[in-house]
Amino acid sequence: MVSLEKIVSLAKRRGFVFQGSEIYGGLAGTWDYGPLGVLMKENIKREWWRAMLEPHVFALDSAILANSKVWEASGHVENFSDPLGEQQFNLMFKTHAGALENESATVYLRPETAQGIFINFKNVVDAFHPKLAFGIAQIGKAFRNEITPRNFLFRSREFEQMELEYFCEPKNADKYFSDIRTMRMKWFTSLGIKKENLQFHDYGKDELAHYAGATTDIEYRYGLSESGFSELEGIANRTDFDLKNHFPGCSWIDNEFVAREGGFVPYVIEPSVGIDRAFLAFLMDAYAEDEVGGEKRMVLKLHPKIAPVKVAVFPLVGNKENIMAKAREVFDTLRKDFTTRWDDIGNIGKRYRRQDEIGTPWCVTIDYQTLEDSTVTIRDRDTAKQERVEVKELLQYIQDRLK
Ligand code: ATP
Repeated sequence: MVSLEKIVSLAKRRGFVFQGSEIYGGLAGTWDYGPLGVLMKENIKREWWRAMLEPHVFALDSAILANSKVWEASGHVENFSDPLGEQQFNLMFKTHAGALENESATVYLRPETAQGIFINFKNVVDAFHPKLAFGIAQIGKAFRNEITPRNFLFRSREFEQMELEYFCEPKNADKYFSDIRTMRMKWFTSLGIKKENLQFHDYGKDELAHYAGATTDIEYRYGLSESGFSELEGIANRTDFDLKNHFPGCSWIDNEFVAREGGFVPYVIEPSVGIDRAFLAFLMDAYAEDEVGGEKRMVLKLHPKIAPVKVAVFPLVGNKENIMAKAREVFDTLRKDFTTRWDDIGNIGKRYRRQDEIGTPWCVTIDYQTLEDSTVTIRDRDTAKQERVEVKELLQYIQDRLK
């Protein structure tokens, strides 16, 4: 397994992730995503939405700041803490809304996105009249004043979560829990994470939160703990705990939806994953050092859907006008459909190395032969094999492989 130091250094050198507030000595637990990091993070989010947004799943984007009553009702004001010396230390960041800095103006930066979903449950029901089972999904920032942020993106104070709350009849909760558990593991492996680096950790009765019916973590082999494995995603059956917290006495039970569904409070199954931890897992898993043509190289074997750049275009010689013009034409065609990079600096071998390091799956070279027969070479990142393909088939070639 690649060391965290190598990943941190690659991430900085190639513009994936920088230390937060770096030029002022940093701010512990914060990280800034660079140009390639942004692209890769967007790809992770897109694939998550793709997997989540079935017809009966609704998207939401709730505010980061919420009325402090939300966090009182959810139990976070009282219980969201880690032990610190004699006292418990609450992990929520506190601030003030408005000009007064008194108790009544206290607001918290959300420590998870989930509560934003629960407090909007009735709004979604009233607007869309969904039948059980249905879900509400959200991606957004979360903040935790971790006592010791550490291990790069693994434990930071500002991070991003992707959460689905899937509401169902209590009698079906076990089935949905099991389906979602399977579905989430498949999501990671289908996007290229090696099976042997992932495992389930099913919680025993004594490990469960008091409100949880069942909990499983999907763990990745980050190499940060004794076993090597640490939590990447948590999947929980949260029962009816949260809805009951926010709608005490179930005053909303008269609501048309609940009446129709038989008068019970739905249970909720929640898969919750930190994007930053997923990002780190994708990077670590893709990292490889191998040899091509007798030369050592460092390569990120990212799944093409996750790779920040899909294709790079190289004019063989950077000073020949007709080659440059043809390469521009190819570049302009490709960039309409894919994130495409242009590189005309140094020999082709060097350009390949640069793209390998950022995980670009395909490199296209325009050479003298292109001018004669409209073919280009396309080179595969993982095998380093090159093929000649007609320019007019290039789009299809890449599209087929992206699927
Ligand atoms: P841990 O036990 O590692 O502190 P947790 O069980 O408190 O995590 P959850 O509250 O279940 O985490 O949050 C869901 C997901 O959010 C986690 O699986 C993880 O991917 C992510 N996450 C939680 N805390 C952090 C953090 N400080 N930095 C980055 N990601 C985090």
